[in-house]
Amino acid sequence: MSEDIVIGAGVYGVLVAWALARRGREVRVLEARNIASGASGGPGRRGVRANGRDLRELALMTQAPKAWLALDEDLGAHHFYERTGHLLLLEREQDLASAHARVQMQQSQGIDCRLLAAQDCSRIQPGLTENVSAAIYCDNDGVCDHDGFTRAVARRAEESGAIIEENVPVARIEVDGQMATSVLTSDGRSIDVGGNLFLFANSGTAALVESSFGLKLPIWNTCLQVMITEPTPHIAIKTLIGHAHRTVSIKSHAGDRVMISGGWPGNWDEASQQGRVLSESISGNLAEAAAVLPSLNGIEIDQTNAGHLEAMCVDDIPVIDRLPDCRNGFFAAGWSGHGWAIAPAVVDLIVHWAEHDYPPALLAPFSLQRFGVSVLPDQ
Ligand SMILES: Cc1cc2nc3c(=O)[nH]c(=O)nc-3n(C[C@H](O)[C@H](O)[C@H](O)COP(=O)(O)OP(=O)(O)OC[C@H]3O[C@@H](n4cnc5c(N)ncnc54)[C@H](O)[C@@H]3O)c2cc1C
Repeated sequence: MSEDIVIGAGVYGVLVAWALARRGREVRVLEARNIASGASGGPGRRGVRANGRDLRELALMTQAPKAWLALDEDLGAHHFYERTGHLLLLEREQDLASAHARVQMQQSQGIDCRLLAAQDCSRIQPGLTENVSAAIYCDNDGVCDHDGFTRAVARRAEESGAIIEENVPVARIEVDGQMATSVLTSDGRSIDVGGNLFLFANSGTAALVESSFGLKLPIWNTCLQVMITEPTPHIAIKTLIGHAHRTVSIKSHAGDRVMISGGWPGNWDEASQQGRVLSESISGNLAEAAAVLPSLNGIEIDQTNAGHLEAMCVDDIPVIDRLPDCRNGFFAAGWSGHGWAIAPAVVDLIVHWAEHDYPPALLAPFSLQRFGVSVLPDQ
């Protein structure tokens, strides 16, 4: 049988490998480093939220809570996904009109959400600053232990017959007659693509697309900071917390700790392939968190991390398309810091695309055509 090749063992790579292997296909995953060593790994949990999401991604989120619960069930006893709800807090008068419009827009897309007055916000999350005037609340949103989930899916993919090779960086994709025919690894191996090729290398995607096809994608890499506090038994985080104008996200972690993040940058060293946190990002992120939950003022931080690269895209949504001049090649990257939540929906649609050789309408907003690039002349 023809072997499908997947590049990258983050959540996208392992989910597609599991889906293909479950369909009885031969599948080989080539991972430059280790499973979950990229954005799908590291400490804390990832937000799974529709609330506040870019309009073009909302349709992908309508089925997300169900899809995450079903995947969690499939993985067995250990639950990685938790439905917590999401509060998108507002403090400024000028944000109220746009919040009304957002609620209406999200509801029209099938997202169950509502605008809450300040006292209702405090019922959901006690201890909020008095400056909170309202919030958009989405009951169905939640969080996921991304690292554990990615590793568990990888194990399931292998149990279903997929082969996952670690420490195998792919250096080039070879194409002949509108078909990806093989991949060359950096240690000089040539591996045939007998079926389809799925490029899910996230931070490695732009370089591979440029070196193989001469196409420069409008994406770049950044490392994002995460902090975990010391145990804080006096602070209970009841929901996923975000903010309309502050750069902050707050989650509960391991029962009695708080995870503080939201998009503050670290510094990536290309030579060592390591990310390090920046003191100004730590203080900035802490100040924003304490502005939302004053009891976080002076909190002790146990762990900081900026070791996981994410690819960002110029218009803040991913690029999902065929590889240039490849009928059997697909890629997705540039998640812009929010690619986790939509992973099950995107993977289902890409697998469907590969099986039926027809691009799903729901993925149309993410095509390269929005940048004036056509990857197949007769597409
Ligand atoms: C700190 C942080 C917080 C985030 N918070 C959220 C959140 O709250 N909600 C949300 O929805 N999303 C969030 N995201 C984004 C989300 O985690 C990512 O979009 C998602 O995990 C991307 O998955 P992936 O499989 O595409 O990429 P990755 O997990 O990065 O996997 C790509 C893999 O490809 C491998 N690779 C790279 N180049 C090559 C090559 N040449 N050959 C072979 N392998 C290669 C890498 O080693 C890596 O393992 C966050 C990201 C970060 C970093």
